[in-house]
Amino acid sequence: MKVQHVTGRVKLKRGRERAVLNRHPWVFDGAIESIDGDVHPGDVVDVVDANGKWLARGWVNPSSSLTVRLLTWDESERIDEDFIQGKLEAAIKLRERIGALSQTDAFRLVYSESDGLPGLTIDVYGEFVVIQASTHGIERWLNTILRWLIERFSPSGIIERSDTEERHREGLQERFSILYGNEPSGEVLINEGGFKFAVDILGGQKTGFYLDQRDNRRRCASYIGCGRVLNCFSYTGSFAIYALANGAEVATNIDTSEKALRLAGRNAQLNGFGDRVTNIHSNVFSQLRRFRDDGEKFDVVILDPPKLATKKSTIGSACRGYKDINLLAMKLLKPNGVLVTFSCSGLISNDLFQKVIFSAAVDARRDVVIVERLKQARDHPVIASFPESEYLKGFVCIVR
Ligand code: SAH
Repeated sequence: MKVQHVTGRVKLKRGRERAVLNRHPWVFDGAIESIDGDVHPGDVVDVVDANGKWLARGWVNPSSSLTVRLLTWDESERIDEDFIQGKLEAAIKLRERIGALSQTDAFRLVYSESDGLPGLTIDVYGEFVVIQASTHGIERWLNTILRWLIERFSPSGIIERSDTEERHREGLQERFSILYGNEPSGEVLINEGGFKFAVDILGGQKTGFYLDQRDNRRRCASYIGCGRVLNCFSYTGSFAIYALANGAEVATNIDTSEKALRLAGRNAQLNGFGDRVTNIHSNVFSQLRRFRDDGEKFDVVILDPPKLATKKSTIGSACRGYKDINLLAMKLLKPNGVLVTFSCSGLISNDLFQKVIFSAAVDARRDVVIVERLKQARDHPVIASFPESEYLKGFVCIVR
């Protein structure tokens, strides 16, 4: 059996062991006193405190500021094939246990640290599987993971789309390849919540579809199924489909990606709403102003922008961006209209996001009732000891 033996030892500075003891999976270079041994990126190291006491074991990357990604807090546990396969089995069991696989054939099977496999994302789209690897450590186990996936799912094809930002930070090149079987001949059709969606798993955003919004699409359906719906940052128009199926008359998608809007048109047709969807290729920030100046009004506005806060220094400007679009959206809403608003910036807390909505409401001179709080779908689990695993937050609001 393949085993990764421990090749080095990372000693922490005095007083810097708290996070490791609390089972937070990241060790940053600032907490490290020394690295002993001939270690290479992706090797397994033991992490010890300033007195040399064993704390945890993980994958090292000496040239990254995120130097160790912890895998186990049990000294007797080896990092071998059984360990990796055990994590994969646990990931699927968790999703079965929490009902994340019902009403969909597209789901996130592995969500990195949340499933104990730092740097690994696995998304299943019907017969196809998409993998993203973003750490040196997980790269060493790709063959094991591949074998397990083939045995467990008998997929038609496994595609590697290792094109994440994280990969650059880790010092890895982007990589795209067909790891197994065939590549899809075109779009892949998935079934979610009784709807069909065409997904571009080879070239679409993320691994092709925003699986993290699945639970929110379902939860919002009854609120957004009303009158004239404006779906901002629509990508391939998934929220519009749920709205139209639940009573909305017409929906307008806005996105800067022409490719995404083409699929949005296709998705509207696939679900029988071809004549009730309009796709606008435009920047939401300017399009909302245009609508305001033209006196347009909507019953529902959905705002699902990309991550506006990418690092700590951009939190302020991100908040101004969120406030801007939320304020404009509130102004475009008819009395008692519905605002569904999201932030997928991990750096913006729930509290801070609520403050932004509050501040937009004050400026819009509208009373805003928060009727639901939303979060990422359950197949993107949040780990109590790892708050960074929670990134998506949203509110359903009635704007009086
Ligand atoms: N709600 C979507 C996911 C949205 S992801 C779903 O459930 O599928 C964010 C989208 O915003 C992406 O499709 C991206 O192309 C688009 N985008 C980014 N900046 C934009 C801007 N300034 N104006 C319009 N669209 C933008």
